[in-house]
Amino acid sequence: MMARRKYVVGNWKMNGLSDALGEAQAIFSAAGAHAAVDVAICPPFTLIGAMVAAAPGAAIGGQDCHAAAAGAFTGSVAAPMLADIGASVVIVGHSERREGFGESDADVRAKAEAGLAAGLSVILCVGEPREVRESGGAIDHVLAQVAGSVPDSFDAQRLAIAYEPIWAIGTGLVPTVGDVAAMHGAIRGALSGRFGDAAANMRILYGGSVNGDNAAELLDAGDVDGALVGGASLTSAKFVPIIAAAAALG
Ligand code: PEP
Repeated sequence: MMARRKYVVGNWKMNGLSDALGEAQAIFSAAGAHAAVDVAICPPFTLIGAMVAAAPGAAIGGQDCHAAAAGAFTGSVAAPMLADIGASVVIVGHSERREGFGESDADVRAKAEAGLAAGLSVILCVGEPREVRESGGAIDHVLAQVAGSVPDSFDAQRLAIAYEPIWAIGTGLVPTVGDVAAMHGAIRGALSGRFGDAAANMRILYGGSVNGDNAAELLDAGDVDGALVGGASLTSAKFVPIIAAAAALG
């Protein structure tokens, strides 16, 4: 197994106009001091090209892509288009896409395959709703998502899983560290069962209300290889402490 480098990814969601590029520059500049951590920002599509220009060499990505490489899909963006403007990352299967746009596991898998085929690193999100957590079915629910949405073949260095309990996203609620470790261990076990040794090289990120205060504890949990961060990734003041916490764990 190669050592899994910590990976901290900002999901800006539908936030950010041109004047936000300075924040991205400040984030990537500070991240440069933490060479042991991989850092990426996924801004809205509209900012990707400008962010690539403003932060050359930085890992910048989309928050979604279409499963097709091109075609009559008004309003959609294809993975090769992301690569074409300098993106190197794409998030697929975020719960706001699964729930808000009706994306199935099969859809998410097709998008992940499209991202990988375009040469992008893919962050594939899974996570349970609150009622499933409360009923004790969280691990079964998430493992079914993993089974249904992770492609059959991929480069383990270019496919990360992000476990994001839906009830923790944007709410300030976080699972216990024990629950995070149990879920990540279950995901790792399922990946090992399906992919053997390659699973040891896959990174599993935690997402859901990560901030500068809770990052160190969450990132230190078993099988947690990084964080997918929404609200706290929008400014360098909030995001850089999370990157620093990851760096401290090396
Ligand atoms: C997310 O949307 O991926 C996320 C984790 O959001 P937040 O950090 O704001 O909970």
